[in-house]
Amino acid sequence: MSHAERLTRLSEILVELFRSPVPTHFFQTLADQAFAAVPNDYLAVCLQDPEKGGYLVHSLSGLEDRAVSQRVFSPDEGLPGRVIGLGKTQLLADLAAEDGVDDLEGVLADAGMRAVLVVPIRRGLDVLGALLFAGRPPIAYGDDDLHIAQLMASGLSAALETSLAYQAAADERSTLGAVLASTADAVIMMNEAGLVLLANAAVRPMLGLIPDTITGRPFLEVVDHEPLRELFAAGRPGVSELPLPDGRTAQASLVAVTTPFGEPVGLAAVLRDITLLKNLEQMKNDFVNTVSHDLKGPITVIAGMADLMRMAGPGDENHESRCQDIRDAAQHMADLVTDLLDLGKIEAGLDAAREPMDLIPVIGEALRLVKPRADTKSIELHAELPEETIVSAVPSRLRQVLINLIDNGVKYTPSGGRVTIAVAVSGDGDGNGTVTIRVTDTGIGIPARDLPHVFDKFYRVKSKATKEIAGTGLGLAITRSIVEAYGGRISAESLEGTGTTFVVELPRARY
Ligand code: ADP
Repeated sequence: MSHAERLTRLSEILVELFRSPVPTHFFQTLADQAFAAVPNDYLAVCLQDPEKGGYLVHSLSGLEDRAVSQRVFSPDEGLPGRVIGLGKTQLLADLAAEDGVDDLEGVLADAGMRAVLVVPIRRGLDVLGALLFAGRPPIAYGDDDLHIAQLMASGLSAALETSLAYQAAADERSTLGAVLASTADAVIMMNEAGLVLLANAAVRPMLGLIPDTITGRPFLEVVDHEPLRELFAAGRPGVSELPLPDGRTAQASLVAVTTPFGEPVGLAAVLRDITLLKNLEQMKNDFVNTVSHDLKGPITVIAGMADLMRMAGPGDENHESRCQDIRDAAQHMADLVTDLLDLGKIEAGLDAAREPMDLIPVIGEALRLVKPRADTKSIELHAELPEETIVSAVPSRLRQVLINLIDNGVKYTPSGGRVTIAVAVSGDGDGNGTVTIRVTDTGIGIPARDLPHVFDKFYRVKSKATKEIAGTGLGLAITRSIVEAYGGRISAESLEGTGTTFVVELPRARY
């Protein structure tokens, strides 16, 4: 075969090498076609493995019946070791004439090979490995073979490099894909032409969009959430707050996406749900505002009264009532602090030690304690109770629940009204089931818009009817915390001007 013909074969091999970026494809191509450019009876690619501290010999063709051992060859072993170490080609005319042949060359010599040609596979200044050709007579290697083998090694090196770059890109893409798919942040990207280029899974829970059906479609056609459309329309990179369709709040970061060469690709928005943070912040602010406001009120009263009493001097006819005002203000502050401490304790779960107990006597105690207040307003307390009802609770905490509810009934019911506590038990004879406590009053009721909030800390209905009624707004929050700590539920039903019913459900227990 002429040199020109062999070069043509080589160029065909090189074209084939680059058809796929996978090393097994390179090896297969060389195994199938290399002999057309460089005749051989055995061909191997020896590749350095820095982690293993040596090189591996991948036999590509020839020697099918005599395997070269699949071990790591140390850098100073054999011809390939020398080629890798020195970066120089080795050409042997007669392998059998060499002494000190080891593993690899020994196998070749035994198989009747005489001519050996080993060329380095370089990348820049580094040597990645070596390409080894061996042949039985009449194969003998000369300068032509050396030249073509070197070109083949350069082609293989370039292919290996592409493969590495491809692998890195693929790794990066799949890592990126995995991150995008599993993040709770919604990511949506629009290209310069206004098409959705990318939308990850989180766009569904957050924006109600289905990622697969919107990618590739015009953004304005598939996204109808106005704030998001405005965000992209304005196109100003930066961080802002974005209301989500279901009322939650997201922090939106808009970024301009460019290629590594600075060409614009489009705009991407990353949305993070910060509803909880916003709520916490709001709660903290409310808490600080309310506590300081609620404590400031009575302090002002106490200071004002003291000033008044000093000015009026001894013998003031209002002395008695002013002392009472001071007492009331101090009492309110004390209530507030007690409630806050209680709430803190319950929420921290400090008094979790509960036991099976009969609910009925506790209701009796609560009614007795509230009765004086009910009497002063001529409110009738009424009870419809079964004989014995066992729940699992701490008696003093359960009493607190009952007092809060009955006392609220009395507080928010005008004179002459009625507060009823009724207990019903459902379930089987084995003590499984639910105990339902209903506290119903004939009072002012709770406006529908306030009803969902009455269990919030510090929430008090603001109306003419409640203006004169003192309270901290913590009673129902405490009540709910206790009920929920016992695995129960509390809810309220109310009709403004007619009355309110609080319903507490607790799991039934057995002694
Ligand atoms: P407060 O110390 O203000 O009574 P609560 O947490 O016990 O605090 O109650 C929260 C708010 O719910 C009250 O301020 C009141 O507006 C309303 N509320 C509670 N119970 C009743 C009721 N039985 N009837 C009417 N409104 C009620």
